[in-house]
Amino acid sequence: MSSKSETVIRIHGAGLQIGREAISVSNDGATVLLDYGVLMTDRKPEFPERVTPSSINAVFLSHAHLDHSGGLPLLYLRGGPPIYTTTLTAKITTLLIEDMLNISRYYVPYEDLELREMLDHVHPITFNQKVHVKGIELEGINAGHIPGSLMAKVRTKNSTILFTGDFNTTDTRLLTGAKVDLSDVDVLIMESTYASTDHPERSQLERDFASKVKEVVEGGGIALVPAFAVGRSQEIVSVLRAQNYDGPIYLDGMAREAAKIMKGFPKYIRNYDEFTKVMKSVRLVKGNRERQRALQKPGVIVSPAGMLRGGAVMFYLEHIIKDHKNGIFLVSFQIPGTPGRVLLDTGKIAVEGKLIDASDMTYFYDFSAHSGRKELLDFVKQLKGGAKVILIHGEPETTKAFQDTLRGMGIDAVAANNGDSFTV
Ligand SMILES: [Zn+2]
Ligand SMILES: [Zn+2]
Repeated sequence: MSSKSETVIRIHGAGLQIGREAISVSNDGATVLLDYGVLMTDRKPEFPERVTPSSINAVFLSHAHLDHSGGLPLLYLRGGPPIYTTTLTAKITTLLIEDMLNISRYYVPYEDLELREMLDHVHPITFNQKVHVKGIELEGINAGHIPGSLMAKVRTKNSTILFTGDFNTTDTRLLTGAKVDLSDVDVLIMESTYASTDHPERSQLERDFASKVKEVVEGGGIALVPAFAVGRSQEIVSVLRAQNYDGPIYLDGMAREAAKIMKGFPKYIRNYDEFTKVMKSVRLVKGNRERQRALQKPGVIVSPAGMLRGGAVMFYLEHIIKDHKNGIFLVSFQIPGTPGRVLLDTGKIAVEGKLIDASDMTYFYDFSAHSGRKELLDFVKQLKGGAKVILIHGEPETTKAFQDTLRGMGIDAVAANNGDSFTV
């Protein structure tokens, strides 16, 4: 058990991997759990290292993505600890977990009952709100990653820890970038997804993307944008309208549902008036008859899944692939092994069991919701001397290389592995 004068941080998941994030912070007999996600591999869902629900005094949920939220119902087989998160995150988490339960071909060791029990334990918090859990203070801070996303400042009796979750310090169409005071932070637990990649300059990226989309549509084609349901889809639509694309835009699948939920939370959208105006100009599509109609005329179709692993986008793909005046616009990092990554690397995509060459109609634009290398470095540079940096949520090579970069700068950095504990 941790004493008053020491805090123990344990990495239960997301050590040297992107997925199943879970970290616990213990001090003076109290323990808070930061996220408890799932890693969806092709074979089965993988969860973080086990935790005993009765040993957890509270859970902090940074945002809705399943790699942060998808394991939480496991803690609610019989009651469970309070969860601090935004109401928007709780609602979108419900949407994503229900979808996972519906589509998973593999056994998920909880059901809707545990999800409901989990939701009963949600205590909503918002930006800059503090709560106290048996001597540990949790403060929610805007993370700029997806609508409703938070970081946490965790203050124990002997140290201040900043847990970034997934974060973006750059403003996007949809969100205000994260701005945090790091002057009091002793330990920074930071994601490192893009620690080896610099993102392109945002306004140039927007112009390049919109002009290519316009070219395809003006040439009589359909621009199909496979995109994550939460955040990215709505961002893409906003970018196109801001860049004066005034043709038809269709929004399908869970992106449609997520957009409806977001409309109820003006405070989490950077420019809410603009967002509602954009959403009014978009046609929401449901069912195959409406999908057929969306395919009749040149236009833009935005639909999950973002890496072409199933979802409504597959319906469109089968149709548009036959005519190369159409375009496939990938707008996010494609995880190795996904059909989207194969398409990006080889130009080929499997449709109805056949491998089709789509290299002359595939485009890639890096619209990330994560801080890039430069932003991560700028963030770390704000720390006071002697602060510790624990890196998680990245590919092993990326995270280890970034650890070495930080050490070269004289910073006490570590690429943490699952099962590692740190006493501070
Ligand atoms: Zn995320
Ligand atoms: Zn994540």
